[in-house]
Amino acid sequence: MATKQHDGRPLPTYVETAAEDGHLRSLLNDCVHCGFCLPACPTYQLWGEEADSPRGRIQIVGQLVAGAPVHGAAAEHLDRCLSCLACVSACPSGVRYGEIIEEARAKVERANARPLPKRLGREAIFALFPYPRRLRAARLLLKAAESTGLRKLLHYHWLSSHLPAILMATERLAPPVTPLERLPPRVPARGPSRGAVGLLVGCVQSVFFSHVNAATARVLAAEGFDVIVAKGQGCCGALSLHAGRMDEAARLARKTIDVFRAEGVKLVVANAAGCGSAMKEYGRFFAGDPPYTEPAAWLAERTRDLSELLAEAGPRAERHPVPMRVAFHDACHLAHAQGIRSQPRELLGQIPGLELCEVGDDTCCGSAGVYNIVEPDAAAELGRRKAAAVRATGAEVVVSTNPGCLMQIGAWLGSAGCALPTMHVAELLDLSIRGGEAPRRPLTRPST
Ligand code: SF4
Ligand code: SF4
Repeated sequence: MATKQHDGRPLPTYVETAAEDGHLRSLLNDCVHCGFCLPACPTYQLWGEEADSPRGRIQIVGQLVAGAPVHGAAAEHLDRCLSCLACVSACPSGVRYGEIIEEARAKVERANARPLPKRLGREAIFALFPYPRRLRAARLLLKAAESTGLRKLLHYHWLSSHLPAILMATERLAPPVTPLERLPPRVPARGPSRGAVGLLVGCVQSVFFSHVNAATARVLAAEGFDVIVAKGQGCCGALSLHAGRMDEAARLARKTIDVFRAEGVKLVVANAAGCGSAMKEYGRFFAGDPPYTEPAAWLAERTRDLSELLAEAGPRAERHPVPMRVAFHDACHLAHAQGIRSQPRELLGQIPGLELCEVGDDTCCGSAGVYNIVEPDAAAELGRRKAAAVRATGAEVVVSTNPGCLMQIGAWLGSAGCALPTMHVAELLDLSIRGGEAPRRPLTRPST
């Protein structure tokens, strides 16, 4: 086993994190090594390697907790995990793998065990993605690249093979730049109010998917909710939390908690699966941080996914027909992390004329937060497989509850020469409530 890091420094051990390791150890002890989770794991499906399976990763984390250094190979196997939590749904012993990988990633972060280019790439991503103001500037650059033809130029083989893989992966996935739809601080309920709900507009979501936020607000208002778009909100910390960047995640989460506490809303609605699942975890995350223990639990209890809230409340607005064959893709952080599967299907079932078909393959699409940027090869293979499964349904549109999945699936459908529109459930409900026309053009830019 290696004794030095790639830059020659001694490998760190984690005897100093004894309290954390005690918690991790108790989580690891739940695993009975039965292997029932292996067939459900996308990376095990891809490579068939024990070290790239949930059981193998649990074993790696066990070695780290026992004092083994965080060497490059361990970091790589942990980095390759999508945090899709398909293993959690498959595990008969109730292993809380989500918490295990979160804490393991925090160890990898602190150990600086990744090669320099990878570290720099991750730093660049996390210096941009959680910050809407910086994203808006990036959006302008992307728009300029689109209008000058520079974006197309990036696809020339010679150029693309000489640019960093992270940059090319980001470009491939970035949706077409559409006009920003800004929301007012309050969107009033139509008819008698069912109460005020906060809307998390998010970071990437607020800049590249503002149309999904606008559709969400219209649907909520049509269904009788006053929608509060709390000022000062930004990233909820989900991307950082799932990447093990705990201090950054805590800072962003605290701000989110403060902003929605100040509004005193009844519930907070998330329309991105990863954000909703992170916010529901705030109570656990801040359990040892007394000033935030109670406020974090307050927000966690009040967080609802859009489909969860609407299914629970029941429909009020009239639905108009949308005669389309729709393929529904489960976002992992909704299905496996939040256990929400029936609700989006129930909402789609309320739309007259809509024919719902299942995407037979429920493996992760490869989006997984920033995974498709930091692990582009594995994500590409999963994206191709998902795109093929979607095409096999013969659907006219693919629908999901998470913008990241839509970006990933849209990009790989485009690569396969299939101009299938992608839509968020909120957009489809909005279309039905407003009595609009079904989309006739792709809503994602086909990649070349
Ligand atoms: S995580 Fe669960 S399913 Fe997988 S090996 Fe451990 S106990 Fe078995
Ligand atoms: S979270 Fe997903 S990728 Fe990671 S070990 Fe579990 S099933 Fe495999």
